[in-house]
Amino acid sequence: MSGTSSAAAERDDAHVWHPWSPIGPSSGPMIARAEGYRLWDVDGREYIDGVSGAMNCSCGYGRPELIAAVSDQLRALTHVDLSFGAHEPSGRLAERLADLLGHGLTRTFFANSGSEGIEAACRIALNYWSNRSESRRRIVSFERGYHGSTALCQSLSGLPAALPDLPSAVPVTRVALTDEPRALTDPAACDRLLDAWEQALDEPGAGEAAAVVVEPLLNVGGGVVFHPSFLAGLRRLCDERGVLLVIDEVFTGFGRTGAMFGFQHSGIAPDLVVMSKGITSGYVPLSAVTTTDRVYREFAADPVYGGLRYGHTTSGHAAACAVALATLDLIERDELVVNAQDRGTELLHGLRGLAGHAGVADVRGLGLTVVVECSSVDTAARLREEIGRHGVLLRQQMSSLLAVPPLVIDAAGARELVSHVLDALDTAGRHVG
Ligand code: PMP
Repeated sequence: MSGTSSAAAERDDAHVWHPWSPIGPSSGPMIARAEGYRLWDVDGREYIDGVSGAMNCSCGYGRPELIAAVSDQLRALTHVDLSFGAHEPSGRLAERLADLLGHGLTRTFFANSGSEGIEAACRIALNYWSNRSESRRRIVSFERGYHGSTALCQSLSGLPAALPDLPSAVPVTRVALTDEPRALTDPAACDRLLDAWEQALDEPGAGEAAAVVVEPLLNVGGGVVFHPSFLAGLRRLCDERGVLLVIDEVFTGFGRTGAMFGFQHSGIAPDLVVMSKGITSGYVPLSAVTTTDRVYREFAADPVYGGLRYGHTTSGHAAACAVALATLDLIERDELVVNAQDRGTELLHGLRGLAGHAGVADVRGLGLTVVVECSSVDTAARLREEIGRHGVLLRQQMSSLLAVPPLVIDAAGARELVSHVLDALDTAGRHVG
């Protein structure tokens, strides 16, 4: 851990079990303070946050409006269990999401994390069919997708981090990429991919598909960006078979791709949308699943509750809903979606200066998600460390490095990020190749 001078680092080494990390001391910095898109570790070293915290701090750190939204709400009312009553912030937020999403997506269920949102969406999709007395139980997803770390979420993914060989509670078919990730911005490659999806949906003997669960771009899966024709084609395949299309906007939602939602690049209407991360700018946990009235109304036929048999103690926590409303105000007032697109274009252009560099295989992006694909996982790990020493934190996903800074980054910050990364690659160039 850099910033090791403090007792805090020793305490962390002794007692904290870090998620998704090898046993032993954390290899990342111990951050003490943050403002806007900058971080400082316990030794006062400054970093540009190219990872937006947990890919969620879209509005940047220390925003008084967001802090006030939480504290004002906590002073007025902590929470009401939504299985038993109601409070105003959840209604206001659900209405606001309906306006933003359009396409008749008017009904929102709230949870706390992205994984819980995906679990809820799968549960809603499966119960939709059982409420209609139709036996559709199978979910189709990407082999290289990532939808969270609960048992069902992990069974939707074939990434190495998924559960080892445990039988899934729900039958899942996972579709492998048909081309290299860097080829999938091309419509012809997306046509090949759609053929594979069609085969998976119609797989003989596998049982009828209930739902498709996909991300607009695969972030954990290595920063895979699709041509917009992919989601449009997938919508068509789902429509032809009556399959529900669940779009996982946990990472892409709220401006990350230069549109408010990633699915909007393809002009499609999903049946369910799962949101988290940027919904509160990461200030407090919240996730949301929004669906149509058509799906919602089928739950009147549920034999036990006449509704949804699913929920959490803190589903739609009032303080989380209040900060989400304040986050949406900031995104709109400061035109952060446009900023994400503009700064993303600058970052992509600047980081394309790395193409041809030993160890860099491809540079691509969508909005403020810029992907530097390296020649191997080891190379990516070494470059990420060197870039960190130059004062920029980037995210490693397989052999790719992702630059996903807060949407509030300005042009000067984007230039600084690029220049530090280029310097780091020059330093590393002597050892990589
Ligand atoms: N879906 C996607 C696309 C994600 O990126 C993530 C988190 N990285 C999740 C789901 C799971 O969210 P959480 O970690 O909040 O459970």
